[in-house]
Amino acid sequence: MRWPLIGGGVLVLALTGFLIAAGCRAKAAGSAVTTPTEPTDYAFDADRAWQDLVKQVDFGPRVPGTAAHKKTRDWLVKSLDPTSKAVTLQPFSHKLGGADVQMWNIIADYPGTGPAPRERVILVAHWDTRPTADYDPDPFKRLTPIPGASDGASGVAVLLEIARQLKAHPIARDVTILLVDGEDYGPKVDNMLLGAKYYVAHLPKVKPTWGILLDMVGDKNLDIYREPNSDQYAKAVNDRIFRAAKKLGYMLTPETSGFVDAPYKYAIDDDHMPFNEAGVPMADLIDFDYPVWHTTADDVAHCDAYSLKLVGAAVLYGIQLP
Ligand SMILES: [Zn+2]
Repeated sequence: MRWPLIGGGVLVLALTGFLIAAGCRAKAAGSAVTTPTEPTDYAFDADRAWQDLVKQVDFGPRVPGTAAHKKTRDWLVKSLDPTSKAVTLQPFSHKLGGADVQMWNIIADYPGTGPAPRERVILVAHWDTRPTADYDPDPFKRLTPIPGASDGASGVAVLLEIARQLKAHPIARDVTILLVDGEDYGPKVDNMLLGAKYYVAHLPKVKPTWGILLDMVGDKNLDIYREPNSDQYAKAVNDRIFRAAKKLGYMLTPETSGFVDAPYKYAIDDDHMPFNEAGVPMADLIDFDYPVWHTTADDVAHCDAYSLKLVGAAVLYGIQLP
């Protein structure tokens, strides 16, 4: 199912109106501190997030073992560094094609302002990209790496903007942003979800309370259903996100992209599953109705800044809900 989008200009105007209204409410509450009594999406900057999506795609495919992968790693650390006092690289290696390939999870922490003990929310996206365009319509391109605009860059771009928002406005809960490597190496699942599996096998002393995974959230015709594994293992987290999306007016309509409060047609095995199996409930926000998935056409032309806004604002708002 696909839905046409109305003109971006109309959407931008409508959003600006909403955000001004939200800002006024916050001021009327008379709060001078940065942590509000009511959740807000803090004017999640879709254009800024979009720049970070384009930048990642410009590095080239972020395939472990390549120069573009290392360059992207350094840029991600540099981007997160001004937002967090604690940005760390978690190195690990995995045997791929007979050789040990070096990979890195990237972790940034944002201490909360609420009274201890605080819940710790973990927000996850994969920063690596698929080395093979397995589903490319052109058989000669199937061994080519994908650009990974939605499948890779989109979730990371949203989390980089959330990082900037959390720096400017810490929330009550502790937040960890985790950019995982080796999600999409493949071709099969034994060589996938590698960074998530490694992180879960080496959980920090204060383990995350619950989390949200963002994967393939850039599709210009974005529709995000309730992923069934998420409902099975992390229903409360999924409920929270859909509550936030409703509150923000981000449900799918015939005119706009958005969330759909109904189960997706099948369950998806993604980076959230190692967490769910380790007792950290995690919901997966994913638009799997992406016709160019695992093809060389997973590029910026098939993505849209407004899609990043929908997901980023809903997550930012949702992690503040009681
Ligand atoms: Zn993929």
